[in-house]
Amino acid sequence: MRYVLLRDDDTNAFTPVTCLERLYRPFLDRGLPVNLAVIPAVRTDAAQADGRPEGFLPAQPPAVPARVPVGQSRELIQYLRDNPGFHVVQHGCDHSFYEFDSPDPHEVAGRLAEGTHWLQQAGFAAPETFVAPYDKLSRASLAAVGRRFRVLSTGWFELRRLPWSWWPAYLWKKLAGKAHWRVGRTLLLSHPGCLLSRHRPRETMLAAVQHAVRSRPLTVLVTHWWEYFRAGRPEEEFIDVLHQTAAFLASTPDVRVLSFAELARSGLPRRQEWLAVTAPLASPSA
Ligand SMILES: [Zn+2]
Repeated sequence: MRYVLLRDDDTNAFTPVTCLERLYRPFLDRGLPVNLAVIPAVRTDAAQADGRPEGFLPAQPPAVPARVPVGQSRELIQYLRDNPGFHVVQHGCDHSFYEFDSPDPHEVAGRLAEGTHWLQQAGFAAPETFVAPYDKLSRASLAAVGRRFRVLSTGWFELRRLPWSWWPAYLWKKLAGKAHWRVGRTLLLSHPGCLLSRHRPRETMLAAVQHAVRSRPLTVLVTHWWEYFRAGRPEEEFIDVLHQTAAFLASTPDVRVLSFAELARSGLPRRQEWLAVTAPLASPSA
């Protein structure tokens, strides 16, 4: 059996429900869970490394920089409530640049708690899974996430960033050539880069997804909803690849699509097979 988790990052108070509906109806109709990494209280001036506004913000964000809790979008909250195939996980706190790269344990613990607070205030259950913006976590952040969450989904792990107490488990994972591991009760999942990305060639995207899923027991597929819409207009060919992915996942007999919550609660982690991952880890992702 091959296990797949689909992770879509950056849903926030400004995300139009029409975008999520357009992208994910074929998944929902087939009973395939969609994990949404939701920004709890997005900064309206969130920017990339080069200073450009993040693509998940509206073209004309409010003139005065602020943080907008996801619960302020009643339409989005209602939509997610009406469609239980979406599973909300915590994506940072406000999506400041590298917000979980701080070495300060108090700061990062505060951001984790505040993000959880905003999600709960919007009516969601306390999240069990964490996704850091830009997949970037300091040693202090990794330790705090390990104390608070059942699952961490990120790009890859580096020894120099890990809490000292994680080193033996990490070294064992490296020696065994595994991509996924655990420390205490927390599952630590890596992913093979953003295969479903506007920066990848369309012609080979579906084949790359299929190869990733078939070549390892458990694959986290990462994508970003806003990449499928340029200036508000849908990128039809790219959306078509996503929908072909849904068809592939649903029609392949030995593939099972999971939510992170299911993974945390199932007996899977107690078995070794899903941990025996062969493929090397790939490049960073946004
Ligand atoms: Zn993000």
